[in-house]
Amino acid sequence: MHALTGEFLDALRTAVGAAHVATGEAVALLDVGWNPHNLDAGVVVSPASTQEVAAVVRLCAQHGVPLVPQAGRTGLVGGSISHPGEIVLSLLRLNHVEAIDPQERVAVVGAGCTLQALQDAAAVHQLEPGIDLAARGSATLGGMVSTNAGGVMAFRNGVMRHRVLGLEAVLPDGSVFHDLTRVVKNSAGYDLKHLFIGAEGTLGVVTRVVVKLDPLPQATATALFGLPSVEATLDVIALALQAKAGHLRAAEALWRDFMQLNAQALHWSQEGFSLDQPIFLLLKLGGADEAALQAAFEQLFESTLARYPSSTGIIASSQRQETELWHLREDTDIVYRAYPQAPSFDVSVPLSRIPAYVAQVQAELAALDATLQPFIFGHLADGNLHIILNVRGPVAPERAQAVEHILYRHLQALGGSFSAEHGVGSKRIGAMNDTTNATKLAVMAQVKRLLDPQGLMNPGKVFQA
Ligand SMILES: Cc1cc2nc3c(=O)[nH]c(=O)nc-3n(C[C@H](O)[C@H](O)[C@H](O)COP(=O)(O)OP(=O)(O)OC[C@H]3O[C@@H](n4cnc5c(N)ncnc54)[C@H](O)[C@@H]3O)c2cc1C
Repeated sequence: MHALTGEFLDALRTAVGAAHVATGEAVALLDVGWNPHNLDAGVVVSPASTQEVAAVVRLCAQHGVPLVPQAGRTGLVGGSISHPGEIVLSLLRLNHVEAIDPQERVAVVGAGCTLQALQDAAAVHQLEPGIDLAARGSATLGGMVSTNAGGVMAFRNGVMRHRVLGLEAVLPDGSVFHDLTRVVKNSAGYDLKHLFIGAEGTLGVVTRVVVKLDPLPQATATALFGLPSVEATLDVIALALQAKAGHLRAAEALWRDFMQLNAQALHWSQEGFSLDQPIFLLLKLGGADEAALQAAFEQLFESTLARYPSSTGIIASSQRQETELWHLREDTDIVYRAYPQAPSFDVSVPLSRIPAYVAQVQAELAALDATLQPFIFGHLADGNLHIILNVRGPVAPERAQAVEHILYRHLQALGGSFSAEHGVGSKRIGAMNDTTNATKLAVMAQVKRLLDPQGLMNPGKVFQA
């Protein structure tokens, strides 16, 4: 670790303005986000334009200083942690919705624009970005591009990679990769924007994004079903995809332990609705008419009862009730408050394999330690499960390895993934090295060396430092 020189800090101040280079006390006042080590660098530089980002990146290249791109700081895999001797490059001042074209159904945004801000701006035109996640108020489009974020609508609309039409990024030498294509069809050579999508800031700094928009439904309806098994839940999702009105917008599963913990913390209960079902399914329909959507849910519940007589269900009858039901799924920080730094996992499993996978994981975790209780929830319609253990972290490395072995060892053969939507960051590099095809790893390393020969761009993320 080299201390940053006064000359370097002065050059940064000249590039972005002294008020936008935070050190010492000014950094301590910033919100550190979801990882306590995000701001350990102690220097946060906040440029306001692509040109200023490029100037900062060039200075880092000239002075050999590593930089960590950061925005909403909601990342969950330590992708934006920083160290003394590095600088944090914050994209939060590039926060504008630059343009929305309602006819093209396209938005151009600065990388630091939050998802919520884009959702609000698009809603004015009865449009939406087609991607949604609980951290919407803080997560930025640049961060979401960089982690290839997924969220609740991925089963329907794809992940971030499928929503991005074009992007702009500053490369590690300070040059600007500019591809603000705003059409769906583009077969003109290698589609290099995909290198930056999911790169977690290791290949460059994303500065602008062109996002595809979709029509926003005029009405939504939400229902919560209690079901006897994972198989039943997958079956009900298949039925919901054929709903008699509207279209399915979300199908989120909450296993019993997760549901009970959150319901208790949120003081939520509903008369006649048991919290003892093995699994719960939160469904959202979107369409033109709320009454028709609610009728579709009633029909869906009748079909569900006919197949699974022990099922229970609630159809939200007001906006307030809809919001309350969504808190049960989205307030995931409740688990982390109960078990600070609990080991957490974000796996993708092909739908047909989920029942067997969950049963195997539960059995093997219990065999490892009878007190281990996994809280399971997630985006079941696309096979993405979040698993958090009832253990305060950090756990000993041998214990962490044993748990990872249970969760990850079959995933590659099943055609799943050890990182569904959160990325690799600094937390999952071991899993990356253990489970990824050697040729893929070698090509990734070649691409990294080609674009970032000095290794200054977000070091220690995705790859070993
Ligand atoms: C409550 C909660 C719910 C969540 N739900 C979901 C979910 O459903 N689906 C999902 O996919 N994720 C989810 N996440 C994870 C998180 O919101 C996403 O990873 C998000 O994409 C991170 O955006 P950010 O702006 O906060 O990025 P940060 O946390 O600041 O950074 C994340 C990574 O991207 C890099 N980065 C950030 N901006 C740039 C840039 N402009 N250029 C280059 N690199 C950059 C950073 O270096 C880091 O590696 C959730 C998080 C929380 C806290």
